Parts: sequence; C-alpha cells; structure tokens
Amino acid sequence: MSDDEAMEGRLFLEAASRGAAYLRDIRRRSVAPSGEAVARLDKLGGPMPSESMDPAEVLRLLDEIGSPATVANSGARYFGFVNGGALPVARAANVLAAAWDQNASLRVMSPVAAELENIALRWLLELLGLPAEAGGAFVTGATMANLCGLAAARHALLERSGWDVEADGLFGAPPLTVVVGEEVHVSALKALALLGLGKSRVVTVETDHQGRMRMDRMPRLDASTIVCTQAGNVNTGALDPFAEICAAANEAGAWVHVDGAFGLWAAASGIHSDLVRGLSDAHSWATDAHKWLNVPYDCGLAFVRDAEALRRSMHMQAAYLISDAGRDPMQWTPESSRRARGVEVWAALRQLGKHGLAEMIRRSCAQAKRFASGLQKAGHTVWNEVALNQALVSFKTDAHTRAVVEGVQRDGTCWCGGTVWKGHAAMRISVSSWATTDEDVDRSLAAILRVADRCAGS
Ligand SMILES: *Cc1c(COP(=O)(O)O)cnc(C)c1O
Repeated sequence: MSDDEAMEGRLFLEAASRGAAYLRDIRRRSVAPSGEAVARLDKLGGPMPSESMDPAEVLRLLDEIGSPATVANSGARYFGFVNGGALPVARAANVLAAAWDQNASLRVMSPVAAELENIALRWLLELLGLPAEAGGAFVTGATMANLCGLAAARHALLERSGWDVEADGLFGAPPLTVVVGEEVHVSALKALALLGLGKSRVVTVETDHQGRMRMDRMPRLDASTIVCTQAGNVNTGALDPFAEICAAANEAGAWVHVDGAFGLWAAASGIHSDLVRGLSDAHSWATDAHKWLNVPYDCGLAFVRDAEALRRSMHMQAAYLISDAGRDPMQWTPESSRRARGVEVWAALRQLGKHGLAEMIRRSCAQAKRFASGLQKAGHTVWNEVALNQALVSFKTDAHTRAVVEGVQRDGTCWCGGTVWKGHAAMRISVSSWATTDEDVDRSLAAILRVADRCAGS
C-alpha cells in the first residue's frame, strides 16, 4: 500500500469516528449552538492561506470548530421548519457513497447510481399510490421538484396548442393560466418565476381556516390551466381537497400539480386515506425525501404522470453524452452532474419496508397530537386540526408568543420556529424526525410550558 493509500484510509476512518463521536453527544447538547460556538467560526477564516495543511489537521479544525456550531438536526428534539434527521442507515449509505464519489448524470458514468434511482422510483410510486407509468426526477429538494412538475405541465399544455416551449420559449406563446391557493408555498411561486409563468400572474383562490383551497372559489378551469395544489400546508399540515379539484380539472383538461413536500408521505401512512383521496388523479407531484423520509440533504423528488412531458422538458443532447440503453438520470432533471441521491433513498426504503415507513409517518403524527393536547391542556391556543405532523400554537398575546419562541430557542431543550397564522403570531412545531421519542416530546413540552410561564408577563 502506498503512503497516499494509507493516508486516504486513515482519513476516512478518522472522519467516520469523529462523526460517530458527534452523534453520541448530540442528544445531550443544546439544540441551537451557543453564541460563542458560532463566534468561533472566525477561526476557519482569515486570508486565503498560501501554504497547504495536513489533511488530518483540516479535519480536526472542521470538527473542533465546526461541530459545536451546528444545529442539532441529527438529535431528536429539533422541531423547526420541516427538517427531518437522517436515518442511521441513510447516513451510513451516504458515507459509503462519499467513498464511491459517483456522478449520477449518465448511466455510463455510474450504473449503480442509475439503477438505484430506477429501483427507488418504482418503489416510491407504489408506496405513494401514484401511477406506475409516471416518470421521476431526483433533485435537491421540493423547490426544484416543483420546478420539474411545473415545467412538465408547461410543456404538455403548450404542446396541445402546437407550441414547442423548449424550442421557442414563451414569447408569443398561447397564454397559460396558473391557479394557486392563498396559502401556496413560496417555492412554488419561485418555480413559476423561473419558468417564465410569473409569480404575480397567478389566479389566487381563497382558502379555509386550515389553509385548504376552497372549491366554491375555484375559477372555471380549461385545457390551458395549471392548478397548483398542496399536500401539507407548512403551518397547519392541511391537504387540499384533491378529489374535488382533480375531478373538476380532469373534466376540463386542466393539469393538477401537487406540492407535497412533506404531506405526500401521508399517502404511505395507511391512516390518511380520507385526506389523500383523489391525490393520485393529479398530473405531477413534488416531495422531499430529506424531510419525512429522513435521508440526508439534499434530496427532493418529482413525479410526473406523463413521463414523456417531464423527459422532454429536461432533455439535452450532445455527441459526447453517451446514452446506452436504460434511464439516464440527467435527462429527467434540471441538473447534469449530480450526486447519487438514489443511494440514500434506496437505503432508507430498503431498511424501513412499507410497514416501517408507515409506522414512522404515523409516529410523527401521533407525537404532533401529543404536543397539541399538552399545549391545549395548559390553556394555549392550537390553531390547526392536527392530522399530520404539524402543531400550530399561540400563547396569550402576539408578544407573549414571540417571547416564547425566542425563549424556547435559547433554552436549548428543543427548537421551534415562529410564523404568522391568519394575522396572529404563532409557534410551529413540526415533528419530522425518526429519532423523536414520546419522552423527547414530553421533555420538550415541559420546556415550552416552563418558558411560556416564565415570560407570561410579555
Ligand atoms: C419545505 C417545503 C418546500 C421547499 O422544499 P425544499 O426542500 O426546501 O426545496 C416546498 N413546499 C412545501 C409545502 C414545503 O414544506
């Protein structure tokens, strides 16, 4: 073995062992990093060094300075945004994949990356109850997944009018109408902006007290309309009424896109059949694997019923881009060179199985209910019907709520973020990690109630 080979092996083990030590401590640490730890990040900077540094020393610096300045996402009590925590098997697969260093662009560059995407895609369509013939894209997150679904919609609807949008752009194209709910996620609007469909050019439909699109406010749909729906409102977790929306859209020839960044996973829980009814009648779906499937960042997924519409909106060709038989991952996404996201998705699904996945989703939902009932019992206002993994709570006044959010983050037992719901300051609790136990919920609830009492004068 050469010195370089020996060093490479030692360094890899050193990284893994530092990672393992990090994970051992993570549940005992404050969820938010301390101000001092964040201030010490300065030590990683300074002027661009002229001299090289021993790789082991680089790793040591990164761990000693970097690790304490992380947010404890990998712990069990992070309830901010909708961030999962990587499943051990998905994280470990990610480490192995780091050794592989595959470019999951073309099949010829990485048969294993291409094949794992194929397998995972087939499994996912089955788990989520989506059409088996749908095409799929493994992307960075739901933002890009929304872009893929909406790009396929743009392609398909304009093709019907004889317009080739990829070739000719939108200048002079027949107009498309995009319908969104008042509660549309900003990432869907961003996707519309990137696609030239415009984020202000949308028709906005009023939503109900949970943030669901109101069917009685839906405009007349036609074959040049995209209806952008949501599975999982980021505050309440609510799902749009898909059965009604898809029935109307399918009759009119309109396209239904579903932003299901986290809520799409309800389709795999086995207990949300009422909420996901009609979901599979839509035309495109976006979701995140790095949220509720608990794989490492960055990993989002797009599925499109008309696979060809997705492929044709993303396809590119050059003489040197060798395509052999089979699916080339890059032909289905906005990216070319890309990491092998299928590795962790495959590992997570292979470990969990259908039952394990359903159980993980149901557990988060039950824990969100546990939070909500504890907060309600203590006299606080829970705004949402807790059907999924979100609990949305306000305390006495807006000022009190804001003080609780800040106090909870500083306390460090858990981490929750703030939001505004229907004009009221609110705190979001999003249970998205496999690692969260009922005991973690109780400990976090006690901390939240303690902080709420302490700043009751706010
Ligand atoms: C998180 C989220 C997104 C954006 O997902 P990214 O993975 O951050 O790109 C889009 N829509 C909804 C409803 C979300 O919850």
